[in-house]
Amino acid sequence: MSQSKRRFIAGAKCPECSLTDTMVVFIEHNVEKVECVKCGHQMVQPEGSVQGATRQFEQVIGVFTPED
Ligand SMILES: [Zn+2]
Repeated sequence: MSQSKRRFIAGAKCPECSLTDTMVVFIEHNVEKVECVKCGHQMVQPEGSVQGATRQFEQVIGVFTPED
């Protein structure tokens, strides 16, 4: 059983080796990370923080919504 699911990011460009379609995203220690399969360059998925902020905002709305 593999430790993490990996999926390629279509059209993503590696900032290190400048190749496209070599970036995979995976979860490590509950953090979404991106790795280039060509050069091994790793970085934290920028969109992950945006999604996290959105999720927090949704939770706040959910708590604030009255049930009656
Ligand atoms: Zn690369």
